Amino acid sequence: MNFEQQVNGHRCYFNSQVPHDLKWRKQQLLQIKKLVEENEQACLDALEQDLGKPAVEAWITEVSYISGDVDHVVKRIDKWAKKRKVRTPIVAQPGRSYIQPEPQGTVLIIGAWNYPLQLVLAPLVAVISAGNCAILKPSELAPATSALLAKLVPQYLDTSAFSVVEGGVEETTKLLAQPFDHIMYTGNGQVGRIVMTAAAKHLTPVTLELGGKSPVYIDQSADLEITAQRLAWGKWMNAGQTCIAPDYILTDKSLIPPLVTALKKQIKQMFGEDIKASPSYGRIVNQRHTKRIASYLSSGEIAFGGTTDIDAKYIEPTLIIDPALDSPLMTDEIFGPILPIISIESFAQAKQFIKERDKPLSSYIFTKDKAQTDNWISEISSGNQCVNDVIMFNAVPDLPFGGVGPSGIGQYSGKAGFDNFSHLKSVLTRPFLKDLPVRFAPYTQLKFKL
Ligand code: NAD
Repeated sequence: MNFEQQVNGHRCYFNSQVPHDLKWRKQQLLQIKKLVEENEQACLDALEQDLGKPAVEAWITEVSYISGDVDHVVKRIDKWAKKRKVRTPIVAQPGRSYIQPEPQGTVLIIGAWNYPLQLVLAPLVAVISAGNCAILKPSELAPATSALLAKLVPQYLDTSAFSVVEGGVEETTKLLAQPFDHIMYTGNGQVGRIVMTAAAKHLTPVTLELGGKSPVYIDQSADLEITAQRLAWGKWMNAGQTCIAPDYILTDKSLIPPLVTALKKQIKQMFGEDIKASPSYGRIVNQRHTKRIASYLSSGEIAFGGTTDIDAKYIEPTLIIDPALDSPLMTDEIFGPILPIISIESFAQAKQFIKERDKPLSSYIFTKDKAQTDNWISEISSGNQCVNDVIMFNAVPDLPFGGVGPSGIGQYSGKAGFDNFSHLKSVLTRPFLKDLPVRFAPYTQLKFKL
C-alpha cells in the first residue's frame, strides 16, 4: 500500500464516524495503556538499546508517563467533548449558541528520538481523545523503539484508524506530501520549517514542538543545595538530551564557586565516582551527536568533567565557566550533558540576556524573592516556566505543554491536547419565530435610526 492509499484508508474510516464515538476513543486510549503495561520490559529494553536509558528513568519519563496520561484523559474526555455554551446576544435571539468540539480527521505524528516512545504515544493520546485517526512516524534515530511501535501498534489499536510508518527523511518527505488534516512534529526548528512549508501546500494546521536554549537564573537568595539537586536531575537525565533541560545558567560571579561545589556534590551522589560505570547515567543517541557535543568542550574553562568516549557514546557531566558567548556552545541548543555557567551582574542584565535571544521552550528562576519572581514571570517569555525547579511542570497534566515563537507552535497535554486536535466549531441554533424586521432590506432611513 502506498502512502496515498494509507491516508485515504484512514480518511474513509474517519468519515464512517467510528472515531467520533466517545466509547471508541476511550477504548483505544485504554489499549495504549495496555500496550505499554503489557510490554513494559520490551519498551525498557528498546529504550536501553537506543539511548542506554536507565530502566527507572525510562519507566518514569516514558512508560508510566503514558499510562498516567491515558488515565487523566479517559476520566475527563466526556466533559471536554461536551458542547460549551456561550451567551447569545439580543440580535440573535431567540437562539442558543455553543461551541461544539469536533474531530479534525487524520493526523500525521512525527516523533523525535530523545523520548522516542513518549513523543509518539503522548501526542497519540491527545489525537485519539479528540476523535481522530493517525499515522505515526517514530524517529529513525531510535530504531529499536521505532520497530517496537511498528510491531505493537497494529496489535493493540484499531488498524483502520492507526498505522505506523518507519523510516527517515525519504519516507517523511513522501508522507508530508499527503493532505493530512493536522501535522504534529517534534524535533528541531530547521525540520520544523520543512514540515510547515509542506503543510502550507494543503493549508494543513501544524503543531510544532521544537527546542531552544532554556535558561536558568539563580540569585543570592536561592537555597544552593536544593537548587543544585534539582538542576543536576533535570540536566543529566537522559544525558542532557531533554528539550526542556536547563541549557545554561546565569548567576552572579560570587555564586559560581559555591554553585560548582554543590553541583559536583550532586553529580557524585547521583552517579558515583565512576560515572561511566553508573547504571543511572545514559548515553548520547549516536556518534554523530557525541562528536557534536564533544566539540563544545573547548569553549571555556572546564570546572568539572570533560571526559568523552566517542565510540561508547559517552560524555561526562560537564561544567564550563564563562564560555565565549559567540561559541557554538552558547549559540546552538546543547542537547547534551554540558552545563555552561555565565556570570552576570544583575537581575536586569540576566533578563536582557534572555530577551536578546530566541524565545526559549522553558525558562527557570531560583530565588526566594517574591517581587523578583513576579517580575520574571511577567517579563520573560518562554513556552513553559518553573520557579525554583526545572522540568516538573511536565508532571502537571492540566498544564498545556508547548513552545512560543521559535520554540514551537501549539500545545498539548490534557485538555490543551484535546482542544489542539479538535476543531472548536461555533454553532447557533434558532427556532422558526419571527425576527425583528430591522435586519432585513429594504434598509429605510427609519430602520437606520432605530
Ligand atoms: P530527529 O532527528 O529524530 O527528527 C525528528 C523527526 O523529524 C524524525 O522523525 C525524523 O525522521 C524527521 N526528519 C528529520 N529530517 C527531516 C527532513 N529533512 N524532512 C522531514 N522529516 C525529517 O530529532 P531532532 O530534530 O534531532 O530532535 C532534537 C530536537 O527536538 C531538539 O531541538 C529538541 O529540543 C527538540 N525536541 C522538542 C521537544 C518538544 O516537545 N518541544 C521534545 C523533544 C525534542
